[in-house]
Amino acid sequence: MDISKSEIERLLLNLGVLKKGHFILTSKRHSSFYFEKFRILEQPHYASLFAQIMVSKLKTNLKVMPDLICGPATGGMILAFEVARILQLPCIYLEKKDGLFALLRGMNINPGQKVVIVDDVLTTGKSLYLAKQVINEKQGIIQGQVVLIDRRTKADQDVISVYKAAGEDYSEDKCPMCKQKIPLTDPKTGKIIKRS
Ligand SMILES: [Zn+2]
Repeated sequence: MDISKSEIERLLLNLGVLKKGHFILTSKRHSSFYFEKFRILEQPHYASLFAQIMVSKLKTNLKVMPDLICGPATGGMILAFEVARILQLPCIYLEKKDGLFALLRGMNINPGQKVVIVDDVLTTGKSLYLAKQVINEKQGIIQGQVVLIDRRTKADQDVISVYKAAGEDYSEDKCPMCKQKIPLTDPKTGKIIKRS
C-alpha cells in the first residue's frame, strides 16, 4: 500500500486524531501536538485502512511472517484484530490485570510461536515492554512490533510505525508556547485551562 507521510498526516488531522496547538499531557508536560487514537478506532473503515498500512509495512520489514498477532488493551486489540484478519492469522489479546498485561479467557502462546505485537500510540514504550514480558514468559518469539503512531523522543526499540512524530514535550518553565502566551488546552476535554 503506497501512501506518503504527508497523506497520512492529512488523514490524521482530518479525522481529529492529530491535533496541533498547546496541550497539557497526562505527564503534566506541554506539547504542541496531541493524538487521540479513538478518533480512528471509532471509525472502523479508517481503522481498517491503517491496519492495511501496518500489514504492508510488516510485509516489507519482516523476512518471515508470524504465527500469531497480539494486541494489548485497548486500542491495540482493535488494530491487532484487523491486522490478523487481513493476514488470516489468529489473534490474542492482552488485558490489564494488577497493572500488568495478562492472557486471560484461555488464550495462550505456545513455546516457539512467532508473535507480532500491534499497538496504537507508542509514547514511553511501557505498554510494549509489558506485552513483551508476557510473550517472553510463554517462550514465544517476538517477530516484530508495529504501532500506528510512534511519538517517542528516543528511539530505543526497533518498532515499525505508520506515522512517526518526534514527541517533543516541555516542562512548563521551558515551554516555548507558554512564552508565546498561546492558550493551554486540555486535549481530552478541548477546554482551555490557561489563557496566558
Ligand atoms: Zn506550555
